[in-house]
Amino acid sequence: MTKVAIIGTGPCGLSMLRAFEQAEKKGEKIPEVVAFEKQSDWGGLWNYSWRTGSDEYGDPIPNSMYRYLWSNGPKECLEFADYSFDEHFGKPIPSFPPREVLYDYILGRVKKR
Ligand SMILES: Cc1cc2nc3c(=O)[nH]c(=O)nc-3n(C[C@H](O)[C@H](O)[C@H](O)COP(=O)(O)OP(=O)(O)OC[C@H]3O[C@@H](n4cnc5c(N)ncnc54)[C@H](O)[C@@H]3O)c2cc1C
Repeated sequence: MTKVAIIGTGPCGLSMLRAFEQAEKKGEKIPEVVAFEKQSDWGGLWNYSWRTGSDEYGDPIPNSMYRYLWSNGPKECLEFADYSFDEHFGKPIPSFPPREVLYDYILGRVKKR
């Protein structure tokens, strides 16, 4: 296997990118990896936009996020095994964070070197 395409950079796609990066750091040989994303930025569903229906090019928007969403699951059940909420925010936060907080956390994990 020499090339891998990741379709979508939501939490799942970003987790795959991170897994490849971590493997490479450990000295493993990794394939060429290219991620494709339909939206203008990564974060998947958590990358909220005011647009609904179709984007500026007339394509359907693959995102059903709404502005004032608060997590419907406790953060203790959503936490990445290799990047805790405490590590990201530097202090404990409530169990049911709003969308922006989760978005910040999801991106924080991929930006961390
Ligand atoms: C309204 C709503 C509320 C939710 N609330 C919660 C919650 O409170 N807590 C929780 O844990 N989970 C919640 N979820 C579940 C949510 O789906 C997951 O948290 C998470 O976003 C799933 O990650 P993902 O990477 O699988 O998919 P997504 O986040 O959907 O990411 C998929 C990405 O792939 C891109 N994509 C799709 N097709 C293509 C293509 N052909 N080419 C290129 N890019 C493409 C999309 O643009 C998107 O960026 C909610 C879901 C919805 C719909």
